[in-house]
Amino acid sequence: MNYDVIIIGAGPGGIFSAYELSKKRPDLKISVFEAGNTLEKRKCPIDGEKIKSCISCKTCDIMNGFGGAGAFSDGKYNITNDFGGTLHQYIGPGKALELMHYVDEINMSHGGEGTAMYSTAGTDLKKVCLQHKLTLLDASVRHLGTDINYVVLGQLYNELKEKVDFFFNTMVSRVEKTEEGYRVFYGEESADCKNCIISVGRSGSKWMEKVCGELGIRTKSNRVDIGVRVELPALIFSHITDELYESKIVYCTEKFEDRVRTFCMNPKGIVVNENTNGIITVNGHSFEDEKKKTENTNFALLVAKHFSEPFKDSNGYGESIARLSNMLGGGVIVQRFGDLVRDRRSNQKRIAENTVRPTLAATPGDLSLVLPKRILDGIMEMVYALDKIAPGTANDDTLLYGVEVKFYNMEVELDEHLETVHKGLYIIGDGSGVTHSLSHASASGVYVADRICGRL
Ligand SMILES: Cc1cc2nc3c(=O)[nH]c(=O)nc-3n(C[C@H](O)[C@H](O)[C@H](O)COP(=O)(O)OP(=O)(O)OC[C@H]3O[C@@H](n4cnc5c(N)ncnc54)[C@H](O)[C@@H]3O)c2cc1C
Repeated sequence: MNYDVIIIGAGPGGIFSAYELSKKRPDLKISVFEAGNTLEKRKCPIDGEKIKSCISCKTCDIMNGFGGAGAFSDGKYNITNDFGGTLHQYIGPGKALELMHYVDEINMSHGGEGTAMYSTAGTDLKKVCLQHKLTLLDASVRHLGTDINYVVLGQLYNELKEKVDFFFNTMVSRVEKTEEGYRVFYGEESADCKNCIISVGRSGSKWMEKVCGELGIRTKSNRVDIGVRVELPALIFSHITDELYESKIVYCTEKFEDRVRTFCMNPKGIVVNENTNGIITVNGHSFEDEKKKTENTNFALLVAKHFSEPFKDSNGYGESIARLSNMLGGGVIVQRFGDLVRDRRSNQKRIAENTVRPTLAATPGDLSLVLPKRILDGIMEMVYALDKIAPGTANDDTLLYGVEVKFYNMEVELDEHLETVHKGLYIIGDGSGVTHSLSHASASGVYVADRICGRL
């Protein structure tokens, strides 16, 4: 099996590489190897009745398969260089934004038309935030919603499958350099290519580290974000979410001058479990479909933790904290804010009597037994700061789910073309450590595809 280009991973990075390559150079032989399933076969076994919590499937259908980690996400495409990755540092801020807009156009022409685009440009909220020591970051956000995101992915797949060879349930075990290019090993077999694009996302982070080690590609890693997911009545945040949908608000804590930020806001959405390498953490979704909307809004509050020498395993640190919550709660822990400030655990009775109804069946518990004091203090300070721009945020009945961890892949050493020290071997998307979002990962895919087309 000989290909011009082999793409490893069918998340947004891989999909947009395949899309751009097949559009610009229909003559090229392209294949995509994906560890997970086709889109329609991806199904998490948790049904809320027979299976209530994560059973740690061999391949997690939430994280793996066509569409990658983003397939069942809220489909928020943030068009900005302010967050979501550092792609602009490699390819330039203008190019990065241009490609994010291009990705948006493709999404619109594949089922996304009619979905809302929000923007922070000209909002009064910026001033209100600043008056309370909060900073609102600039962005435009296209909100596809989980349902339309799925439609867009379906249309992209139907188009791509005619032009590209897809290998699903096919985990690539190794990548070897050959005289002509690269050899990709899977099971007992292998395939050769001139150019190889690796886009294995967060779920492929450990594998990526191994490949970089074997191929002598340098990496560094020093960051993890740890926090909780907040759930409260949608009304409390409606003046913000109605105007901006998603707002990234940053706060610098009084005590430690740590940065706490809001992340992944889901107006009228639900809180969900997330399984990363067998560890259960929390996340959130929301839907475009009116019938699926809830009365609650949820968002994460994350504290960025940077480490310096000699400690290198920032993700291991985050994993240990998440494991602690799994050990105490069997999964995700939920606590009322009122219980947290009174130094007591939440129990079934208090959660049952709470005015905010939890949208995730998590174990009532005590987050102060899980989160390091410095992180918990930062989160509590941020809740009180947000209470000034959205009164009611610090109500006793506000729910906090823990823990939410944002793991960062180690940063791979790449040049301005996202190419490794080996010519023709590109590493893109979240797996490269350069991106952490749908729009940046997708844009990185288009970028390397254009580069390869130019070269071939
Ligand atoms: C629940 C959830 C909600 C999210 N919501 C948003 C959001 O609203 N907005 C936003 O911007 N971002 C969101 N994100 C993040 C976003 O999904 C990721 O940033 C994005 O998917 C990264 O794309 P990627 O292509 O780099 O990697 P991924 O999407 O992770 O795809 C990588 C693919 O590679 C495959 N793979 C891994 N290793 C191998 C291997 N060895 N061989 C073959 N295949 C392999 C995996 O199975 C996977 O399908 C969310 C993430 C989650 C989990």
